[in-house]
Amino acid sequence: MSPAQRTCLSDSLVHAFDMLWEGLPSICAVEAAICSLEASGLFNAGLGARLQMDGIRRMDASIMEGHHLQAGAVAGIEGVQHPIKVARLVLERTNHVLLVGPLATRFARGFTMKFQPRVGKARTSKGGTVHKKPNSEELETVGAVALDRSGTLAAGASTGGIGVMLPGRVGDSPLIGSGVYADNESGAVSMTGFGESIIRIAVAKEITDRLAGGISPSPAARFVLRKLVRRIQGSAGALVLSRTGQFTIRHTTPHMAAGYWNGKGRVVVADRFS
Ligand code: ASP
Repeated sequence: MSPAQRTCLSDSLVHAFDMLWEGLPSICAVEAAICSLEASGLFNAGLGARLQMDGIRRMDASIMEGHHLQAGAVAGIEGVQHPIKVARLVLERTNHVLLVGPLATRFARGFTMKFQPRVGKARTSKGGTVHKKPNSEELETVGAVALDRSGTLAAGASTGGIGVMLPGRVGDSPLIGSGVYADNESGAVSMTGFGESIIRIAVAKEITDRLAGGISPSPAARFVLRKLVRRIQGSAGALVLSRTGQFTIRHTTPHMAAGYWNGKGRVVVADRFS
């Protein structure tokens, strides 16, 4: 993790925690944390999102709250700076959960919304067309989970997808139960990693089901991530928060840049968790 990423993660945690401290709902804190990561261009989301093989940046995001189990998501959205805001608009302004592709983009245009500057194009040696974007492999998907004073949990995720992907590919991040889940009766989960494996195990829901069964976040996440590796050689990382505020970060990937508020007035940020 670069120093700039570390500072950005830490600032977004402080800001989100202040919101919770002031009594704002967890969904606002989750949205705000993800927004600042999307705006930084330092992660694989929003301004830093990866490009698909045709050189187009199509992004996925979702957000869910655990009181009424309301959720909103977008997949394959283009041009917006904050896919997570559009996901929340889907949750709050429509009767739907998921909008996709150009029609999700058109939906976003109906609101006051920041759009991304156009990216310049470059010719590849094979004559195809790609956008220039150095070091995108090092950028990571962003996500957040939070619990507010009223006991409501929220989870969200925002991504530009994986390293090499066909145009139109959609990962786990906008799929409720795969990339995110939040239920006040169990917990909140936000996933990162190889979406094709996370979807097949419905990881976020599988972890929250274990929390509902009384297992704490750490063993619940460990069990499901082990299953992901054992059954389908998947790889992923999870942010897991229980309804009582117990928390873990677990990953089978070599690194996972993440952080949390440690409950003693301090933010902890690292790129590896055991
Ligand atoms: N889970 C994201 C996806 O498959 C990618 C990531 O987390 O890095 O689209």
